[in-house]
Amino acid sequence: MKEKQEQAVRKKQRGRGWIVALAILAILLLTASMLTLLDARHVRFYMTGDEDVTLEYGTPYVEPGVYAVTAGRLFGELPERLPIETCGSVDSERLGTYVLRYKTRWFFADSEVERRVTIVDTTPPVIELRTIEGYTPTWLTGYAEEGYSASDNCDGDLTGKVRRTAEGERIVYTVSDSSGNTATVVRELPDLHYDPPVLTLRGDAHVTMEAGLRYEDAGCTAADNLGNDLSAYVETENEVVPWLAGEYEVRYSITSEKGDTIGAVRTVTVLPHGLPAEKLPEEKTIYLTFDDGPGPYTEGLLDLLKKYGVKATFFVTDQQSDYIDLIGRAFREGHSIGVHTLRHDYDYIYASEENYFEDFFAMEEIIYKQTGSYTQLFRFPGGSSNTVSRINPGIMTRLTQAMNDMGYQYFDWNVVSGDAGGTNKTKEIIQNIKDGCAEHRVSVILQHDIKDYSVAAVESVIKWGKENGYAFRALTLDSPGMHHGLNN
Ligand code: ZN
Repeated sequence: MKEKQEQAVRKKQRGRGWIVALAILAILLLTASMLTLLDARHVRFYMTGDEDVTLEYGTPYVEPGVYAVTAGRLFGELPERLPIETCGSVDSERLGTYVLRYKTRWFFADSEVERRVTIVDTTPPVIELRTIEGYTPTWLTGYAEEGYSASDNCDGDLTGKVRRTAEGERIVYTVSDSSGNTATVVRELPDLHYDPPVLTLRGDAHVTMEAGLRYEDAGCTAADNLGNDLSAYVETENEVVPWLAGEYEVRYSITSEKGDTIGAVRTVTVLPHGLPAEKLPEEKTIYLTFDDGPGPYTEGLLDLLKKYGVKATFFVTDQQSDYIDLIGRAFREGHSIGVHTLRHDYDYIYASEENYFEDFFAMEEIIYKQTGSYTQLFRFPGGSSNTVSRINPGIMTRLTQAMNDMGYQYFDWNVVSGDAGGTNKTKEIIQNIKDGCAEHRVSVILQHDIKDYSVAAVESVIKWGKENGYAFRALTLDSPGMHHGLNN
């Protein structure tokens, strides 16, 4: 019984011990919770350097550092550092603002701080001026740029954006980069007090020449006081028309880049060759003239003229080269030879003076080969009164003057045989010639020795002429030109 009572007491005592233990535990927990609440522990960041950082373009960003600890009111900071995760990066080769985030986690809660890094460009570009050793400006060019370059730490080469302005005796170079930083450099120019060049005529200041195909100008040299030969920069204005008599000027000038001009003048007098005055024969005279040959009927014609002892005039062409040697024969037999044309191409020869001269003097050379002398006699294709040349207004007026000035006498006619389209009947041609000659004391008859029906008329004309007291002559430089009058 007693044992049972003791057992019951022990059981009671054990139960009371549990209760005490639980009570103590509860007090401890309560105390801890209260301490935690009172401590209010939280994360605290420490940032080295500023929250806002400004950094020059191209300067590498060096992280100054951030760390985090916990801090509380009761127990202060704990020394243990919390792990930090950094988000974001800085590219110092690109302008702009970058945000760096520093994050940590403590007790299931995230916290972070930020730093802003701004990359700026405040460095102006650099302009470098080049200088050429021994360089001296001249009157011609003034100051010629020796060269420059511009570069920028951020934008690279800016040479093409340099503005260059001349201010008196200096040049100001300015350039800005994309951030608005501006550089200015000044170049003081070397001594600009140079003398203008001197123009020196080669040859005489006044040239006199006889009218001819060409005038060769001797030119003009130019040099400055530094010894630079500037002749290559001389501009020449040559108004000389060498085949027309007159007073002309050749003007030379040299102009600097600034627009200053130095000039010189040569005068050229083109004199006419001079032709003898026309002399009308005193006796009744017939001049037989034949154009467009030699051809197949020229030889027979020469035989006929020889038989009657009559001299005629041939205005020759090179249209039938097989007969060209008849020019030489005609000349040796006392006939006159004049230039008609090489090709008898109206459109070509009257297109320009140069074309006409080319054709004319080529024929003149053929005559020279045949006869050993140059003729001064000629007849224009179509005559001087032709209108086919109107493709080139005024060409006949210019050509007649030019040819006379160069010493050539042109001949038209005052009796038409009609063989150039009027008729192909010899009888009519003879009649035309007789009728024409009857109207004049002195007659220049137009015939074509490339037409057999016209050549066939010659014997009758000679017989008739002799019977009627006419003299037959070959044209010479002072013979009557029978000029028609110009229509162009
Ligand atoms: Zn002709």
